[in-house]
Amino acid sequence: QVELVGINKRFGETTVIADVNLTIAPGEFCVFIGPSGCGKSTLLRIIAGLEAPSSGELRIDGVRVNEMEPAKRDIAMVFQSYALYPHMTVFENMAFGLRHLHLPKGEIDQRIEVAAQALNLATMLQRKPIALSGGQRQRVAIGRAIVRKPKVFLFDEPLSNLDAALRVKTRVEIAKLHRSLDGVSMVYVTHDQVEAMTLADKIVLLRPLAGNPDLPSVAQVGHPLELYHHPANRFVAAFIGSPS
Ligand code: ATP
Ligand code: MG
Repeated sequence: QVELVGINKRFGETTVIADVNLTIAPGEFCVFIGPSGCGKSTLLRIIAGLEAPSSGELRIDGVRVNEMEPAKRDIAMVFQSYALYPHMTVFENMAFGLRHLHLPKGEIDQRIEVAAQALNLATMLQRKPIALSGGQRQRVAIGRAIVRKPKVFLFDEPLSNLDAALRVKTRVEIAKLHRSLDGVSMVYVTHDQVEAMTLADKIVLLRPLAGNPDLPSVAQVGHPLELYHHPANRFVAAFIGSPS
């Protein structure tokens, strides 16, 4: 499980994340939503280890990981921009994240084969990213996360570069992937209410701190229906579009 305890983040004088206390249980699908600039990506990057919190403690399975480097955490992140290496093949892109683990070659081949089958990429392993469609590139980015067998997947707006039809298809694939990986948690940032409502076991709604830096960042945490039917305040009701 992932625990955030009193997490704050400042850039210079500006606080962008205030007092986040949150537990993400094993197997939980947790979705971060909120207005642009409220700190969703920053919070995800803190969990990934790409950004250090200014104060507070981050624990994974009870172990404080504030200072632990990203590759050593049992976490894999899928970026909006896919962040594939253009000069490497699909196979090499997927193998790259495994290099720290010092696995035998057979194990690497097998993990990549299983992921490629699951993601319909088996015939594309020797291609470079430039020879793939947007949806295929996104599947490679997901495959690269899968082969690491992480306990936690982090997704930052993974579908925003895809067209509407592909977005729905890939969303269904991500839900399927989550069901197939027993006990693996997902933390998913999106602007899309439908994605949030359909994927989430738990929604974390963040609010921008501008003008009100003394309040905590988290406006409400709960099941999608709970936020919809029982918004904690007007900000939540307006953001979710609750019936008034
Ligand atoms: P969006 O929905 O637009 O992606 P977000 O909720 O992901 O927004 P963040 O990217 O986490 O927002 O940014 C939160 C705030 O922190 C923003 O005001 C942003 O300008 C600021 N910020 C992010 N990274 C830095 C940085 N490296 N230096 C200074 N300010 C930053
Ligand atoms: Mg963002």
